[in-house]
Amino acid sequence: MSDADRIARLRDEISRHDHLYYVLDRPEITDAEYDALYRELVELEARHPELVAPDSPTQRVGGPPLEVFRRVRHRARMYSLDNAFSLEELSAWRDRVVKAVGEVPMVCELKIDGIAVSLTFEAGRFTLGTTRGDGEVGEDVTANLRTIRALPARLRIPRAPDLLEVRGEVYLPLKAFEAFNAELETQDKPAFANPRNAAAGALRQKDPKVTASRPLTYLVHGLGTAGPHGFRGHWEFLEFAGEAGLRTSQHSACAATLDEVWEFCERWRERRHDLDHEIDGVVVKVDSLRAQEELGHTAKAPRWAIAFKYPPEEQVTRLRAIEIHVGRTGQATPYAVLEPVRVGGVTVTTATLHNEDEVGRKDVRAGDWVVVRRAGDVIPEVVGPVRERRARGLKAWRMPKRCPSCGSEIAREEGEAASYCTGIDCPSRRIESIFHFAARGSMDIDGLGYETIDTLVERNRLRDPSGIYSLAVEHLAELEGFAMEKDRATGTLVPGKKIRNLLGAIEASKDRPLARLLVGLGIRHVGDTVAKRLAGRFTSLDALEEAGEEEIAAVEGAGEVIARSVVEFFRQPRNREILRRLRGAGIRTEDAARSTGEALAGKTFVLTGGLSSMTREQAQAAIEDEGGKVTSTVSKKTDYVVAGENPGSKHAKAVSLGVAIVDEAELLRMLGRA
Ligand code: NAD
Repeated sequence: MSDADRIARLRDEISRHDHLYYVLDRPEITDAEYDALYRELVELEARHPELVAPDSPTQRVGGPPLEVFRRVRHRARMYSLDNAFSLEELSAWRDRVVKAVGEVPMVCELKIDGIAVSLTFEAGRFTLGTTRGDGEVGEDVTANLRTIRALPARLRIPRAPDLLEVRGEVYLPLKAFEAFNAELETQDKPAFANPRNAAAGALRQKDPKVTASRPLTYLVHGLGTAGPHGFRGHWEFLEFAGEAGLRTSQHSACAATLDEVWEFCERWRERRHDLDHEIDGVVVKVDSLRAQEELGHTAKAPRWAIAFKYPPEEQVTRLRAIEIHVGRTGQATPYAVLEPVRVGGVTVTTATLHNEDEVGRKDVRAGDWVVVRRAGDVIPEVVGPVRERRARGLKAWRMPKRCPSCGSEIAREEGEAASYCTGIDCPSRRIESIFHFAARGSMDIDGLGYETIDTLVERNRLRDPSGIYSLAVEHLAELEGFAMEKDRATGTLVPGKKIRNLLGAIEASKDRPLARLLVGLGIRHVGDTVAKRLAGRFTSLDALEEAGEEEIAAVEGAGEVIARSVVEFFRQPRNREILRRLRGAGIRTEDAARSTGEALAGKTFVLTGGLSSMTREQAQAAIEDEGGKVTSTVSKKTDYVVAGENPGSKHAKAVSLGVAIVDEAELLRMLGRA
């Protein structure tokens, strides 16, 4: 295809998506996909300036206003923003600015993912509110904007300018968005794909009562026209707007250098999920209004501002297959096998689909194009299929009747969401239960990873956790990467380092506290906290085994369900056999009567960042051993935040709440270890 043809095709395609997005609030592709098409067009047009037509999407802003609203011509045009996707592109923009107007201070702001609006105040009174429309003509949505509580009907200053037109962003706070979608779900109505679409829908309602029922809010981020006014810079305007009672972001900052701008971008990349709205980047603006005027605009965007965009958190990729994973309890969980895609800064290849009903509800089918989302530290999720791109003949998914691992029947109890493999000896279940036993929070056997266990189970060297303690050098030596090596002195073959380390780790694991063993056994409902309480109360496996349901249920945090599950566990002949062998292997099944330390009694800790002398699990155990508590979120009730290497947003939260922050050395001192 020639460049001219490709340009024409891209223009058509982008125009179609513009219409779906701006006019109908019903995008069919993700923003990242749109941005990729758009970028390709920009690059092609840059190579062929003679082919740039005034109606190209690169020369236009937004989409035409909807007929149902009165059309309003903007006093001053509303523009879009040019994008930068890397530090180099940001730096190139800064160079262009410096070349034109010299070294000028800048303002950094969060780029709110909402709907652009223009708000007009005449003699201080709110008289007109419009959408951006195509940048020249927008839609009159004054009545709908009046329903926003945080938008004052009158500016809160004694002498307001005769005319003040400001630009801002209307959005639906995330909590309200989630609640709204949950409500739609109960009514069996389709949920909104993201808060922006929900806000656009709410703002562009014919009936303001409908808008009023959705708690929109807004932030002002720009000056349109004003007269007469004495602002010299954008920052000054923002301060004025705040004083006048308009909502402005608390997070904007002045920046003198590109380094400072970059720091702002990086800081908010990490914290972007701490806000009550979504952001898709940072907007950097030249502060001086005079310099802004000198720099002017292109057909589409001001030259004095740039939007630095974060990597997308949503991408579209192909769903290759839906497979099931059988866990240690036998639960069969469907998951999506995806064509690898970079989203939220990592490459995603699989994502859980939770259970059969969830697959049905999302209606994702093998072969579909699906939207994959990964926001912050949250595990990747398949949002749903792109229905418009579904090929014909794709079949709806059903839970397989038989377990792919052992061929046993997969059953689902009535009224339960989960399905289970009924095969008691299912290899998948075996692998999972051994993996769980050896994992960090359990017996912590370093070097016994999933693949090693998988191979050992496959070769019938391991059948259950107790088998770990019968593993010998010759079993390990046949595994990939676990070679024997020649002893330099004697020339004989001796176990290599990996074998020695693993055998050492297995030996060391025999001496773990009882609570770890209880976690490792994988008793249903017995997690870390309950295991510690049970171990604290009974102090030996024998005592727990002999305890009755009532006695167990009386332990704090346990209760009937857990008690039943523990008793049931010890009743199963297979489990009794495993325990017999574990005891035979010399596993410690009793805690020494150890008095818990009191040094940190009643203190609550939050850990953030990496520690060098111990893992997080170890730090938590050490704190708990001294009577302290470890929680995951920072609040006013937190006594200490332990900040390790590269602390995350919890550190910032601690600063803002005035919670004491200690480093690793200090923690060690508190634990009496330094
Ligand atoms: P934009 O959203 O990238 O940037 C311009 C807008 O940012 C401004 O109009 C303003 O309202 C807003 N903004 C937010 N915070 C701001 C701040 N602090 N200061 C100044 N402005 C701020 O550009 P656009 O032209 O509105 O939309 C283009 C983008 O929309 C694309 O990059 C794409 O992500 C998305 N889009 C998606 C589709 C789709 O089909 N998925 C279609 C069209 C557009």
